[in-house]
Amino acid sequence: MTRATVLLIEDNPENRYLVTFLLEQRGHQVVPAASGPQGLDLAARVAPDLILLDIQLPGMDGHAVTRALKADPQLRAIPVVAVTSHAMVGDREKCLEAGAEGYLEKPIDPETFIAAIEQFLTPPDEGSRQ
Ligand code: MN
Repeated sequence: MTRATVLLIEDNPENRYLVTFLLEQRGHQVVPAASGPQGLDLAARVAPDLILLDIQLPGMDGHAVTRALKADPQLRAIPVVAVTSHAMVGDREKCLEAGAEGYLEKPIDPETFIAAIEQFLTPPDEGSRQ
């Protein structure tokens, strides 16, 4: 697994801490954002390999952030994995309808989290690997 830059859009400091810890332990770089607008701004500036997106955000929720990302030609190719705590019927569908490539439920399980995330991180150019 190559080192990836992951944009983490999450308003809860404890969740940010846990996810950052798990990703950094695997050698990935984490760029944190505490709100949707801040996340959109950083997505355009750092060109992350993956966006991990909390759905319950104040103001602009994760579905709105996903739609904004997918409406932007510069950003739409970045895989978005939605993370939500309301495990409600139809929640997964709502995330995928908004354009997210993946969906994870909280609470985050440290045992399975990295594997679930890394399936969305593909090498940029498989053909040129040595
Ligand atoms: Mn939240």
